[in-house]
Amino acid sequence: MPALAGWCGLRFRDSTMFQLTVTTGFSGAHYLKGYDGPCARLHGHNFRVEARVSGCDLDSVGMVVDFKVIKKLLKAAISRFDHQVSNEIPPFDEINPTAENLARYLYDQLRPAIEEYGARLDSIGIWETDSYGVVYTPGG
Ligand SMILES: [Zn+2]
Repeated sequence: MPALAGWCGLRFRDSTMFQLTVTTGFSGAHYLKGYDGPCARLHGHNFRVEARVSGCDLDSVGMVVDFKVIKKLLKAAISRFDHQVSNEIPPFDEINPTAENLARYLYDQLRPAIEEYGARLDSIGIWETDSYGVVYTPGG
């Protein structure tokens, strides 16, 4: 992938790297179509969203990417779901807004922006509660 050529490129697997974690969240409602249980009814969560970003090279300040930059990008990706019913917002008007689908969607939204900073988006984690969460980590 050309955007990463100047970054870790092929040496990624055997290089020292840094993994950054930024966590934020939003409040939202959803319901799960086809689910046999109370989650089929409209309910809300204070979702916790975590982005993991990695890179090998540090800038002149000594950072892979400024935490504040990652947080700003992550908040921009989740802003359309804050205090909304996810089922009313594409693509979740067609696919169920499960934590799994939401994590994959946010990953796909955020990845290009992170790569513009010469880093890689490793995963997006979504927690619906302190006990239940999903981490989406694409292979490859
Ligand atoms: Zn739920």
